[in-house]
Amino acid sequence: MKKLPLKWKLTILYTAFMTILTVVMLGVLLSLSSSEILSSVEQEMEEKVFGVSEDIQWTGKRLELDRDFYEVENGIYLSAYNESGSLLGGRIPYEFTEDVPLEEGLRKISAGDIQWDIRDTILEVSGYGTVWVRGITSITDAESSLRITIRFSLVLFPLMVALAAVLGYLFVRRAFRPVARLTATAREIYEKEDLSKRIGLTGEKNEIYVMAETFDMMLDKLEASFEKEKRFTSDASHELRTPVTVILSQCDYLLEDRDLSEEERSAVEAIRRKARNMSKMIAQLLFLSRADQGRQAVHKELLDLSLITEMAAEEQEAMAAEKNISIVRDIGEGIEGYVDETLFIRLWMNLIGNAISYGKEGGWLKVSLKKEKNTVFGAVEDNGIGISQEQLPHIWERFYQADTSRTGKENAGSGLGLPMVKWIVETHGGKISVRSTPGAGSRFAFYLPLDPAADSNAETGEVKDV
Ligand code: ADP
Repeated sequence: MKKLPLKWKLTILYTAFMTILTVVMLGVLLSLSSSEILSSVEQEMEEKVFGVSEDIQWTGKRLELDRDFYEVENGIYLSAYNESGSLLGGRIPYEFTEDVPLEEGLRKISAGDIQWDIRDTILEVSGYGTVWVRGITSITDAESSLRITIRFSLVLFPLMVALAAVLGYLFVRRAFRPVARLTATAREIYEKEDLSKRIGLTGEKNEIYVMAETFDMMLDKLEASFEKEKRFTSDASHELRTPVTVILSQCDYLLEDRDLSEEERSAVEAIRRKARNMSKMIAQLLFLSRADQGRQAVHKELLDLSLITEMAAEEQEAMAAEKNISIVRDIGEGIEGYVDETLFIRLWMNLIGNAISYGKEGGWLKVSLKKEKNTVFGAVEDNGIGISQEQLPHIWERFYQADTSRTGKENAGSGLGLPMVKWIVETHGGKISVRSTPGAGSRFAFYLPLDPAADSNAETGEVKDV
């Protein structure tokens, strides 16, 4: 019972309640009508037996019995006896074979399956003397109609229980429909991370309606405050762009001055490095806030992905060389697909850039691209510092940086690169995953469906090795 859905629990409770109520009501009704039938039979017989004084007459020669003695009315048989108990006339049911002595009063006698009510009384017939009048009726007969009713109820009863269960279930289901809608909306909001969804209940304004309305009001507030926050991030990034550009250009201008002392030069270079980081971070922030607001433009076109990958690797050669890292290429030829060029380049630049930043001096990194059926598989692998298992799930979170002191690099990142990469992959209908061993290296692998309509791997959500 514990695991049953509420809908079923209520139906069972309701049906059980209806069953008990019907059983009790039927029991009371039947026992009442049974005693009512009996008492009315007894009363009628009493009236009949006592009302026959007019129907027996002594003509002087013989005793005459009226029709009442020969006609059976309402199952009551009348018969008359003389003082010594010999039958004078009237009718006796043929099933009544018992020899019951005459005795004043009402008696109940069972013979075989039949129960008899017998009422004897003495009458004084003028001119003749004492006459016994006997009334006989079968209680079984009187009760047989009640039995039919009971049998009928026994057949009807399961049908009524079934009907109560079905109607109860339909009723509960109908009452629960708004709750199901509420759950579905909440789930949709959770799964699609879309705060614009509303329950929007219509119809009867009951408690559930008020709850749904309150829920919608809460969502309005939440959505508004999220929007405000997104706008704030995007506005702040915009505002910061100009001063950072000015700082960078002023640094460049200062560094052109040959008269700068060694100390001054290194100070300005440090400022320039930090300002570059800041400029990169602002660009990434702007990108992500535009993506959040659904304003990040994505122009997919048919491109030579092999060529773009090759170019991205080439572009990072100089940076890799600074750390004596060699870039190994395993890029399949002539792979084409529908992607946004700028985003696709950004994807590679970030992954390769990270592999260099977190790579070891004199190490290697491998860039691979392969095509299988309608899907392209890409990966960047390095033999760098790696990421611990505890940190792995967090690297996709904004501003998350796994202990920067490990790298010792001065131009530390922002923790926004991988969230951006994830967004780019997902916006192309793909998925990205990572495997890493601290001290041994990391491997970032993604897949993208080549045909914009086909998303062959999206169902399994697995990213194949390249
Ligand atoms: P960051 O700007 O700090 O590089 P990212 O979002 O690109 O931000 O990466 C988040 C964190 O993931 C990084 O701080 C780093 O600790 C870890 N990380 C990313 N790529 C690698 C890699 N190839 N090897 C080891 N650690 C990595």
